[in-house]
Amino acid sequence: MLKGKYGLVVGVANGQSIAAGCARAFAGAGAELALTYLNERALPHVQPVAEEVDAAALLPLDLSQEDALEAVFESVRQRWGRLDFLLHSVAFCPKEDLHGRVTDCSARGFAQAMDISCHSFLRMAKLAEPLMSAGGSLMTVSYYGAEKVVDHYNIMGPVKAALEACTRHVAAELGPQGIRANVLSPGPIATRAASGIDHFDALIEDAKTRSPERRLVTIDEVGAVAAFLASDAASGVTGTVTHIDGGRHVRM
Ligand code: NAD
Repeated sequence: MLKGKYGLVVGVANGQSIAAGCARAFAGAGAELALTYLNERALPHVQPVAEEVDAAALLPLDLSQEDALEAVFESVRQRWGRLDFLLHSVAFCPKEDLHGRVTDCSARGFAQAMDISCHSFLRMAKLAEPLMSAGGSLMTVSYYGAEKVVDHYNIMGPVKAALEACTRHVAAELGPQGIRANVLSPGPIATRAASGIDHFDALIEDAKTRSPERRLVTIDEVGAVAAFLASDAASGVTGTVTHIDGGRHVRM
């Protein structure tokens, strides 16, 4: 499904990351991949995933560092001269703001969370645009807390709502060039980022008992949808939010 396609995967922290499940699905479908890692401390946890998917490149990327993203795209341009798809699977919020009320969120925490978790997707879309002259697929990862108030998701709810709105705008603006932009919205999955959410165990329990499928979804299931959205089979699909949550979003 992805043979002959080049993809950039941002957001692998370790083998349990949603981005790792997606990378495995992309590679399994025949894509050639470049992965990024946050810093030297993260590298030993990302390297095994890069090896598993036979990544062509493993590049450092801390989105809070100026010019780091530009360097990644320059490396991609030099290696492949083009890019077919991109996965943005990144989120960050300072702990004190993540754990407090939305009403109390500091200006600094709000700006940081928006910058790393949302604006970085716009920056990636802008840098990908010239490399996708033959069209392409941009994907990001959100959560149901973008749509409804989910207890303890706090400020990440508004941040993800902005991310979903940005994705629709990117889809509208880059659509004429054949570049699609879509949102994956998985149910709760035990990952490093998820461990930062207060009472995450309650979300896990809720998914197990209240989703129509009465179970948790896996990163492989998210990966299967991502591989479809990256492929030409999804050529008519853009601006969407796809829930991979066992149907949890249909229930009050
Ligand atoms: P994860 O911890 O495995 O991945 C989060 C990634 O964000 C890590 O690779 C981390 O290095 C990266 N990141 C954070 N700050 C960064 C920075 N400054 N520069 C570059 N990278 C940075 O956790 P995950 O659950 O796989 O999260 C991936 C995405 O999925 C996030 O957007 C998250 O909000 C979203 N999501 C997660 C769940 C869940 O339950 N786990 C559900 C829905 C959506």
